[in-house]
Amino acid sequence: MDPPTANDTNEEPYPGHDETNYKYMDMAKEIHTKYPLIDGHNDLPYAVRCCFDMKWSQLNLEKNHTGMKVDGCPWEALHTDIPRLQQGGVGGQFWSVYIPTAGGYNNNNIQDGVPVVDPATAIAFTLEQIDIVHRMCEIYPNQFELVDKADDILRIFHEKKNNSNGGGNNNKIASLIGIEGGHQIGGSLRALRMFYKLGVRYMTLTHNGGPGWADPACNIDGSWLKTPTIENGAGLDAEFGVAVVTEMNRIGMMIDLSHVHHQTMHTTLDVTMAPVIFSHSSTRALCRHPRDVPDDVLVRLKQNGGLCMIVFLSKFVAGEFWVAGGKVGATILEVADHVDRVVEIAGIDHVGIGGDYDGGDVFARGLEDVSKYPSLTCELLKRGYNEEQLSKILGLNIIRVLKKCEDISREMKSQPIKYPIGEAHWGDELYETNKMKEDKLFKN
Ligand SMILES: [Zn+2]
Repeated sequence: MDPPTANDTNEEPYPGHDETNYKYMDMAKEIHTKYPLIDGHNDLPYAVRCCFDMKWSQLNLEKNHTGMKVDGCPWEALHTDIPRLQQGGVGGQFWSVYIPTAGGYNNNNIQDGVPVVDPATAIAFTLEQIDIVHRMCEIYPNQFELVDKADDILRIFHEKKNNSNGGGNNNKIASLIGIEGGHQIGGSLRALRMFYKLGVRYMTLTHNGGPGWADPACNIDGSWLKTPTIENGAGLDAEFGVAVVTEMNRIGMMIDLSHVHHQTMHTTLDVTMAPVIFSHSSTRALCRHPRDVPDDVLVRLKQNGGLCMIVFLSKFVAGEFWVAGGKVGATILEVADHVDRVVEIAGIDHVGIGGDYDGGDVFARGLEDVSKYPSLTCELLKRGYNEEQLSKILGLNIIRVLKKCEDISREMKSQPIKYPIGEAHWGDELYETNKMKEDKLFKN
């Protein structure tokens, strides 16, 4: 089955759409079969926790869930399932293993009323979220395979599935894991290292609220954190914050700066030895949201070799109250404008895609779920991007960045005296130190 064309429906897919877009659809689909579309951020694992009690037995991902109401899900229906991933030509996905700094979906599912998740809980919940991704790859081995290193991605993508049930791509989906907030390591570099071994390939330094050692763009209630508070406004703790960044460089985990404060972006760029990513962010020049990336950071991204993966959530694309043609919300056209902006400021090697499906409610029109990526490819073809440029935007750029992080990790590990294994800790240790045992002895 093919997606409806302009001739099949009276409904305009998005403002500014015209039939000329569809003359590019065959070309777009062809490009999606040749190069993996690797999306930087998808929150399906959190939906499995919140809406299905973490039980894969309660969710059949082989079924198309379009428009099917799901209890407990604030956007009512899932954005992600296997038939729609196939239609969308998805070849690789960073699955987010997010747990909140406080609250849950609508602040009522997890740790209700507790302001901050304690370190041990944060680590335990993150392990469970990672397990959700591992189990998904076990249950659907024909569809998903967990990536260990950058070289796996193209190999997995080119492995054709035995059967295709969605009428789209027949490629397997290379699956990677991203942690969405420094609070999830519970202040422990030991946990960080073990998460890498379980497949985590990026960590966002903060979510809303932050871990205490890096400043976020937004407070825990989503309001703007105007002035960074850490290290006299530097935005990154000079000891533990720097230790996290350095240890991530050393083990080969990508640093994600989506959600962090503008100043923290700069300070992290001063410290890191490896390219950074924004796994799901747009540009602040076109949308004045503190979560988006300012031009002065995009300029540095070019020098750093990193990547801004464009998010599709309306509020980060065109603002909450943006109105077009009497309809509120962003469209696919503004998403393409953000791609243009990153290309203009940083260059074609520094842009990617990070939709944030199942991580928010209102998406840009024309990009409502994971089946819609080829429509964006159409729009970019219409704007004159060629196949080579699109191959980079869709996936080759992020493969390059991950590979570079692996190279830098190898280099640092070969110099153990210059770059020793990080032993710093943030906050209370999770175990009793010798000092704590001694203190107890004296008290008793
Ligand atoms: Zn996010």
